[in-house]
This record gives sequence, C-alpha cells and structure tokens, in this order.
Amino acid sequence: MVKVEIERPMCISCGNCIDNCPEYFEFADDGFSTLKGGERVGDNDELEIKEAGCTLDAESSCPVSIIHVYE
Ligand code: SF4
Repeated sequence: MVKVEIERPMCISCGNCIDNCPEYFEFADDGFSTLKGGERVGDNDELEIKEAGCTLDAESSCPVSIIHVYE
C-alpha cells in the first residue's frame, strides 16, 4: 500500500497538485488542498491507495513540499 499525506495548514492553494493529479486531489471549502476519499488526521489529510500513480507528480510539483508519498 501507498500512503499519501498533505500537511494542510501550510498549503498556499497554488493548485499544482490538482492540475497534476485530479484523481486524488481537490480544493476543500477552506481553500486548501484535500485528498479525495481521504481521512483528516489532526491538521493533515491521509489516504491509502494501492499504487502511487500521479500522487508522485503532485508531490514533486508542490512548491512548499507538504505532500508526502510513502511507498
Ligand atoms: S501543490 Fe502544495 S501548496 Fe499547491 S495546492 Fe497542492 S498542497 Fe497546496
């Protein structure tokens, strides 16, 4: 399994993750990125998926490096 995490309080709402991986990322009502089908753990979003796929592109495109993909 692959675990994806966003440290949401540091999101600057640039939209790169959503452009690169709309399958898993979207803006929440508060304007920060969120993981589709993910779970809120403290201030972070977490999601477990089978294969990393485009989440690696989201991780590398985030200008503030708050997306983490653990394979
Ligand atoms: S790429 Fe990073 S800073 Fe930009 S919207 Fe996504 S999580 Fe937020």
